[in-house]
Amino acid sequence: DISAPAAELTHALLARVFGFSAFRPGQEEIVDAVIAGSDVLAIMPTGGGKSLCFQLPALARDGLTVVISPLIALMRDQVRALQEAGVAAGAITSGNTPEENEAIFSALEDGRLKILYIAPERLASSATTNLLRRSNCRLIAVDEAHCVSQWGHDFRPDYLRIGDLRQALGVPLAAFTATADAATRDEIVHRLFAGTPPQSFLRGFDRPNIRLAFAVKDNPRKQIMSFAAARKGQSGIVYCATRARTETLARALEEAGHTACAYHGGMEDWERRKVEGLFQTEEGLIVCATVAFGMGVDKPDVRWVAHADLPKSIESYYQEIGRAGRDGLPADTLTLYGPDDIRLRRAQVDDSNAPPDRREADHARLNTLLGLAEACGCRRRMLLAYFGEVSEPCGNCDLCETPAKTFDATEAVRKALSAMLRTGESFGVGHLVDILTGTMTDKITQRSHDQLPTFGVGRELSKAAWNAVFRQMMGRDLVRPDAERHGALRMTQDARPILRGESAVTFRADTIQQASTRAEPRA
Ligand code: ADP
Ligand code: ZN
Repeated sequence: DISAPAAELTHALLARVFGFSAFRPGQEEIVDAVIAGSDVLAIMPTGGGKSLCFQLPALARDGLTVVISPLIALMRDQVRALQEAGVAAGAITSGNTPEENEAIFSALEDGRLKILYIAPERLASSATTNLLRRSNCRLIAVDEAHCVSQWGHDFRPDYLRIGDLRQALGVPLAAFTATADAATRDEIVHRLFAGTPPQSFLRGFDRPNIRLAFAVKDNPRKQIMSFAAARKGQSGIVYCATRARTETLARALEEAGHTACAYHGGMEDWERRKVEGLFQTEEGLIVCATVAFGMGVDKPDVRWVAHADLPKSIESYYQEIGRAGRDGLPADTLTLYGPDDIRLRRAQVDDSNAPPDRREADHARLNTLLGLAEACGCRRRMLLAYFGEVSEPCGNCDLCETPAKTFDATEAVRKALSAMLRTGESFGVGHLVDILTGTMTDKITQRSHDQLPTFGVGRELSKAAWNAVFRQMMGRDLVRPDAERHGALRMTQDARPILRGESAVTFRADTIQQASTRAEPRA
């Protein structure tokens, strides 16, 4: 296993350079092996996040990493993204201007470049090998490695020269592909690794033994307590958004007769090591933790993971629930979410110093997690689809067990949007619900909002129901709370077609009734 400081370095690079809060499934193992200098063959589904698996090690290792990639457009995109993140990267392709080539050669001569993309055609010239040898090239990464297969659909004759380059440079090679059939794999091993099997990574993302469930946050303490009570004596982790919550929940669990500890970044090192050690050795300990917990922990028989608060992203969610059931035996999870979580996570994205397009990408990733929370069909299918895997309904998630009830929410959403727009998108959920349900309050009177045509147009739904409608609107990213204006809601582009009557929207009906009963265990 990789040591703690090394894990901290890779996580720091992940956050600082790439802006990600967690590794995608499978990435970390591959990254560790590549950094360690092993020959690696990694087979990952498309969209699984291959490029990070050679880009991050390139930064963690000494010297230059050369990346061989067949797609010029993709190469240029990746180089641009790396440069924007402050990484010294370049590409030598037939599309380069002489000036671009000059800049790259001089960066190479000075040893300034960390990542150099080259098109496979360049390998035909011995000048390339010599250049790489002079430039302290210490790692070769091969994207779309199946292009070396003569029987495949993407055969690139120049890929056959990669084996020679590896021999000439005497450095490790990491090969990546999404094509997993055994014949192609054998051919890659034969042609790129001269027949010596590399360390291979081939894993789908599915963890079928882990049950997936979400519940609307109602009384989180009660919900977590009843989830834990049904699993008494089993090892579990409760992930919390704040340090304070880890402590109050741990205390409440102790009072209910469980053994429980808090774990967070504010504790002394030795205290944290102690909790990690206890968790590893004691039977049935519950750790209430912030995200800091788990990196160095490898306990096979964690039977359950609960989220008292919504995780940061879909990647974090997957990684955190993935700490349950590593022994392959049934494991249970429950993730709570509510409007406050949505507000908190949106604000965290907005308040980060990331450039605008990365913030947009973070919002999009949050949207996918919220989509999973408000899903109408099998959760696993949706989760795996996000990671590029196609699957059937799983039979091991709350929505497979109890199908969601849905309703056509188009009319409700239009009323809600209209209440927002007529009040200048300046108010939060509470006031908007008062307008829709025609509730007289001081604020309504002061602003004469009882004079609005939308005042009272939503009396057919209760306040709780309207709150749930707004939460689902936030979850679908139809409206966004603005942290700088006390959570005032603004409409997004995605809401326009609904407002104009051009598209319809379906919401969950059952999560409108408070869903605290979902925290109960299965029969
Ligand atoms: P492929 O495996 O198809 O080459 P990419 O490397 O292009 O996939 O990554 C696919 C997408 O996943 C990209 O948008 C990338 O930004 C995103 N991604 C990769 N790793 C992570 C991560 N750890 N967290 C969040 N997003 C990630
Ligand atoms: Zn399912």
